[in-house]
Amino acid sequence: MNTSTVSAPNSALETYEQVAAASNEVAGLLAKRLKTETQGEVLFSAADRGRYATDASIYQVTPLGVFVPKHPEEVATAMAICRDLKVPIVPRGGGTSQCGQTTGVGLVIDHSKHVRNILNLDLKEGTVEVQPGIALDALNASLKKHGVWFPVDVSTSAQATLGGMAGNNSCGSRSIAYGNMVHNVLGAKAWLSDGELLDFSQFENSAGRARQIGEFVKQLAVQHQSDLQSHWPKVLRRVAGYNLDIFDNQNVRPYTPDGKVNLSHLLVGSEGTLAMTQSLTLKLSELPSSKVLGVVNFNSFYKAMDSAQHIAKLGSGTLTAVELVDRTMIELSLKIPAFAATIRTAIIGDPEAILLVEFAGSDKEKLKHELKQLVALMGDMGLPNSVVEMVDDAPQKNLWEVRKAGLNIMMSLKGDGKPVSFIEDCAVPLEHLAEYTDALTQVFQKHGTKGTWYAHASVGTLHVRPILDMRRDGPQKMRAIAEEASALVRKYKGAYSGEHGDGLCRGEWIEWQFGPAIQQAFGQIKQHLDPLNLLSPNRMVNPPKMDDTSLMRFGNNYKIIPIQTALDWSAWNVHNDAATEQTTAPGTGQDPAQGLAKAVEMCNNNGTCRKFDAGTMCPSFRVTRDEVHATRGRANTLRLALSGQLQGGLESPEVKEALDLCVGCKGCKRDCPTGVDMARMKIEVQHHYNAKHGLPLKDTLISNLPRYAHIASQWPRLMNLRNQWPWLARLAESLTGLSAERSWPEWKKEHFFNSQRVGVSAQEVLTASKPVVLFVDTFNGYFESENAWAAFDVLSAAGYQVHIASRTQQDAPGQHLCCGRTYLASGQVSKAKEHAQALLEALLPFAQKGIAIVGLEPSCLLTLRDESLVMGLGDMADTVAAHAVLFEEFLATENKAGQLDALKAQLTPAQKPILLHGHCHQKAFGLMPSITQVIQLIPQAKVDLIESSCCGMAGSFGYEASHLEVSKQMAEANLLPSIRQQQDACVVADGTSCRHQIMDGTAREAMHVALLLAQHLPK
Ligand SMILES: Cc1cc2nc3c(=O)[nH]c(=O)nc-3n(C[C@H](O)[C@H](O)[C@H](O)COP(=O)(O)OP(=O)(O)OC[C@H]3O[C@@H](n4cnc5c(N)ncnc54)[C@H](O)[C@@H]3O)c2cc1C
Ligand code: SF4
Ligand code: SF4
Repeated sequence: MNTSTVSAPNSALETYEQVAAASNEVAGLLAKRLKTETQGEVLFSAADRGRYATDASIYQVTPLGVFVPKHPEEVATAMAICRDLKVPIVPRGGGTSQCGQTTGVGLVIDHSKHVRNILNLDLKEGTVEVQPGIALDALNASLKKHGVWFPVDVSTSAQATLGGMAGNNSCGSRSIAYGNMVHNVLGAKAWLSDGELLDFSQFENSAGRARQIGEFVKQLAVQHQSDLQSHWPKVLRRVAGYNLDIFDNQNVRPYTPDGKVNLSHLLVGSEGTLAMTQSLTLKLSELPSSKVLGVVNFNSFYKAMDSAQHIAKLGSGTLTAVELVDRTMIELSLKIPAFAATIRTAIIGDPEAILLVEFAGSDKEKLKHELKQLVALMGDMGLPNSVVEMVDDAPQKNLWEVRKAGLNIMMSLKGDGKPVSFIEDCAVPLEHLAEYTDALTQVFQKHGTKGTWYAHASVGTLHVRPILDMRRDGPQKMRAIAEEASALVRKYKGAYSGEHGDGLCRGEWIEWQFGPAIQQAFGQIKQHLDPLNLLSPNRMVNPPKMDDTSLMRFGNNYKIIPIQTALDWSAWNVHNDAATEQTTAPGTGQDPAQGLAKAVEMCNNNGTCRKFDAGTMCPSFRVTRDEVHATRGRANTLRLALSGQLQGGLESPEVKEALDLCVGCKGCKRDCPTGVDMARMKIEVQHHYNAKHGLPLKDTLISNLPRYAHIASQWPRLMNLRNQWPWLARLAESLTGLSAERSWPEWKKEHFFNSQRVGVSAQEVLTASKPVVLFVDTFNGYFESENAWAAFDVLSAAGYQVHIASRTQQDAPGQHLCCGRTYLASGQVSKAKEHAQALLEALLPFAQKGIAIVGLEPSCLLTLRDESLVMGLGDMADTVAAHAVLFEEFLATENKAGQLDALKAQLTPAQKPILLHGHCHQKAFGLMPSITQVIQLIPQAKVDLIESSCCGMAGSFGYEASHLEVSKQMAEANLLPSIRQQQDACVVADGTSCRHQIMDGTAREAMHVALLLAQHLPK
């Protein structure tokens, strides 16, 4: 069944028939009523249900359907329908829970798309009332201007919603200073499953049903006083079970400053099992104006753990965090391009562990003094010169980003063994931390595995996930390790569930933690608030076994369908050793999909691709906010297709729909912490889709452009008529699907490939003193020849002997060299390979001599460093890739080597500020620093980098009528407004599509950096 057939505005009856046929009658009725009675999205296709069957845990439970309410009151409507039909309800925010809290049968209600407003900000009282679907970063971004923030700073702050955070009683890195969610929630309005909306706030002021609930829980607390006092862990970080102790506080930090009971605290940590949150009132904190960070380097892990208790006493109230990053994590970070430089700023030599110690407040001088005290303490403890002092904000912020990505970094291990979340947040008193971590490490060793340690040393909640292979003996080992870990937790009087909640994974441990009497009391609370047992049943009360493989993502029946891939995925097709983390040789992992499935399975659902503010990933999700259009939604769809859980597999309409808005920007290749490379996957999938369904006319037209360009350019007037006659543009749209609203690139009779600039011969460049080979692509060669000429002129002015790469074969008369990008964009891998092969053969002799091959269009040149390496082109692809560089990369490197003095002497000063937009592929390869450095070769150049994701044009994507609106919205997210704001600036963009989008959206001419430099050469 196609998603769109269910979510499109078809009749409720049709919806019923389709859903009932595909699922069952109840599902059909549910979908029909939701469709009739609400305006929300009713997602009941197999693909949608599959996408909502997982969160960031190991579990998978397929829901009956998904509802995305458009208006908050529709949540109540959906609940009423579920009540009538006796369908359970699973509330959901960002779906980043690690224990399976959001996986469940019934109707998943996703609040994150529309139910995300700030309802009331009261700065005088220091409170804010929000809807549950708002993400923490979004809330804090809007609070920043007022000098306040909501300080429960979970690592998933960009994608975690306040409703989900309250559901899980989440805790941030700075909980030592601010406490957990429960310490920061002041009130909640929530629906009980019988439909009554209650105001949960101060118990003493409560009335009616809320009062009666309070009285009921109070009486249970009194009844179980002795068990409460003897069984309740006395640590800050205890999130298991219901907060029965609101009436008899057991937490080391009281839930309220005045000790009064707040009934909303009963819902905090209840994981959506007691009530559905309509809004939350939160306590705000003053945003500290200053922070300093001391990074303590340890050459022994034990020592680091042992020191935490002493460090935690520093700061007289200004200490806000003590966070651990261990050796494995440091090593993994060093291997990830986005993090390597940052982690180097924090380490001294080869530490076994580092502790990030933060002090925050309003007086920077005082904080610097605290930092000195940390240095002194470490000296006293026999560790002089072990602290990297970070006083400036930027390096601190960068390092926190690495720490926040901790789990994701760990998850980048290839192979079936993965770090598994089930004991990753046990909390023990600080004085036992060193012994506890030591003993647990031995448990891991005993079971032939290891764990990477990181996170909240300040509060004794260290994250650790042993590596287990959940398709093989993982579940048994998980049980055994859990038993032994729990014994340690008990020995050290800790909390088994200290941060990430209970869900499916720790439900069965609630009774272990609190004893049967309190477990029974929890059952009574559930029964009292949700007698219909509609809200996430069988979770905190009557939970399943944690190792029930029928509830797992890679459960007993998980099997990959064999397929022959077009690209080489063997790098993922490996096994790993849980104890050493070593992987076997590429291609040895026994993946029936030749590595593609294992590449797809790298997605652990953490939801970083739902971020809005940093990096490039994921432009389409940023526009639609639909799960299907996040990298996660796409990866899940592919996993379902590859494992036979989606009829039609890779060729199915569901897969096509999921990838339709993927612009191939490679943002995920760099920004996804586990390196899910959806751009490459899209090429592979399109290859399979084309094989079954054929190639659309538009793809034939666009992909063959490099083949016919030399002929078309001979009749420019004829070819350009389409741009001049609107009726022709409309006709072309109806025939090809390419929007009449977009102009097409203009053909020119005179272009680079037939111009007089010939450069030196191949023979000459091989023996030249300053040789360089210029590879000019189709777009800069035919449509924007001024860029190619400019590059030639700049390189010549810098004293290089420039050879222009051209075909060596005689079989393609008149044709230029091409990387095959246009074919790759539509999944035509074999045709792309033909072109790439000719290009590589032409470039190989120069690469073998170590001569740089310089390109201008990022997407073309970088194909040589990316897709060319996985098309079966052999060693020559590696040799050429090693020497293929973008124009600005070449100049930046040469400048560092002192080779550009001649060029610099000629450049005239900049007259205007310069605004720079990076092409997504430039960003994916981390090349923005090069272009910035090269622009700065121009005297007095002031360059501002626009913080933008994809421009939205992305090859042919933005030309297509079906994508026009999304394409424009991508550009409007940041890029175009930034350009409009600076009318006097000169705009630099290296991508031909980016320049087109900028022109269409702002009527401003953006230029390639080569042209910018050439314009600053004397005429
Ligand atoms: C990489 C990674 C790092 C993490 N780091 C941290 C961390 O530092 N600290 C931390 O505490 N956690 C952390 N987590 C766990 C998780 O991100 C947090 O618990 C987060 O707050 C969950 O938010 P969410 O919006 O994704 O909630 P979801 O997972 O969608 O939901 C969480 C719970 O809340 C319930 N819920 C959601 N909305 C409602 C509603 N309207 N009414 C009633 N119940 C509702 C759900 O049913 C579920 O039980 C991490 C997870 C990952 C993957
Ligand atoms: S695609 Fe990457 S960023 Fe997104 S959820 Fe999966 S692993 Fe996380
Ligand atoms: S390639 Fe770009 S659009 Fe596609 S999933 Fe990755 S980040 Fe999103």
